[in-house]
Amino acid sequence: MKGFKDTLPDTVKKWQLLEETAKNLLESFGYSQIRTPIIEKTSLFERGVGDATDIVEKEMYTFLDKSGESVTLRPEGTAGIARAFIENKLETSIFNKLYYIGPMFRYERPQKGRLRQFHQIGAECFGIKNPAVDAEIVYINKLLFEKLNIKANLEINNIGCPLCRPAYSKALIDYFKNHEESLCADCQKRLYKNPLRILDCKNEKCKITAKGAPRLKDYVCENCQNHYNGVKECLDTLNIEYVENDMLVRGLDYYTSFVFELVDTITLSAGGRYDNLIADLGGNNICGVGFALGQERLIDIMDIESKNTIGIYIANLGVSLYALKILQILKDLSYNVYCEYDSKSLKSMLKKADKLNATVSIIVGEEEFKNNTCIVRNMKQSSQEIIKLNQIESTLKGVLYAT
Ligand code: ATP
Ligand code: MG
Repeated sequence: MKGFKDTLPDTVKKWQLLEETAKNLLESFGYSQIRTPIIEKTSLFERGVGDATDIVEKEMYTFLDKSGESVTLRPEGTAGIARAFIENKLETSIFNKLYYIGPMFRYERPQKGRLRQFHQIGAECFGIKNPAVDAEIVYINKLLFEKLNIKANLEINNIGCPLCRPAYSKALIDYFKNHEESLCADCQKRLYKNPLRILDCKNEKCKITAKGAPRLKDYVCENCQNHYNGVKECLDTLNIEYVENDMLVRGLDYYTSFVFELVDTITLSAGGRYDNLIADLGGNNICGVGFALGQERLIDIMDIESKNTIGIYIANLGVSLYALKILQILKDLSYNVYCEYDSKSLKSMLKKADKLNATVSIIVGEEEFKNNTCIVRNMKQSSQEIIKLNQIESTLKGVLYAT
């Protein structure tokens, strides 16, 4: 199906490394994992993400369930987590720093780095107004990228809030309506509904037209400005370099003041502050800040070899019961073992052992079964010896480590 992908075992190692690294890092900052449903009521995203956004207008997988209720496969993680935060009264718990890993769904035109089912790792911190926590979110991203050896530039902007944005939107509409003919069809539609999105349009003509548009920084209120300046100060303290990009807007309505993206040739990770989301969804007046990164986009540029970690390959020449017994001895010793149960030639089995990167092959056939022995083959040196079963532990000790 277009935009949906299988992840095959040869790349799954990268996924595991990315997820493990992110998980360890986030937990080392005191973030706890949360798992929310993949389906939510459609109204959650209409209210949370915003009904004039691209996501809600044209990218959602929305359908009626059997009771006629409109439900949607989640296009992003924050709205669901905010809902869970409210419903489970997490504000009264210690869990205000949360992270998630999982699939998201958007009906987009599939292309490189853009799928219909994609995966995000993200985090949210609720209830802390201090700009230092915005900087912590960025810091986590920087560390993660460093650990994965991925280079990306940090771009930041102040996107304002519902107090200051309307005046800016009006100024944008006034500007763009005089240049309507040089906007793409999408932006002509956006003009009166969500003019900020025009700044983010990838169309060349729109980009050129947007260059002359008024800038949000000339309209932001004092609160937004103070907060934004505070975040910059914190980033400076952490020695995190950034570029201010006043064309940076986000595709979700809930952001307020500080927003950021980590950009390679495309955006890899993005986030910012959203101080009204919880209240907009019916909760108390609790602020938030978070990020989400696109796992596929990171996997595409992660440059690691996915090596197998199998230590021992059991080359079984038609004595499966005996092979199972040896498998059990090895598992009791905590080794990683791939046991062959299909009768194949020894040559083809040893080839497979090589492909699996096994350090040792244990070869067993009728002869070994009868004598209660096995052949231990050192795959690197291509040397082998026959040993008694009770010598397995001592023989392997010098050759490879157990897990
Ligand atoms: P873009 O401008 O690229 O459409 P966005 O503003 O829609 O991005 P967010 O909703 O902020 O993106 O999602 C955060 C990250 O998730 C993106 O930076 C990207 O890495 C990833 N992402 C978003 N949409 C997709 C998709 N359709 N396929 C793969 N990854 C995606
Ligand atoms: Mg998008």
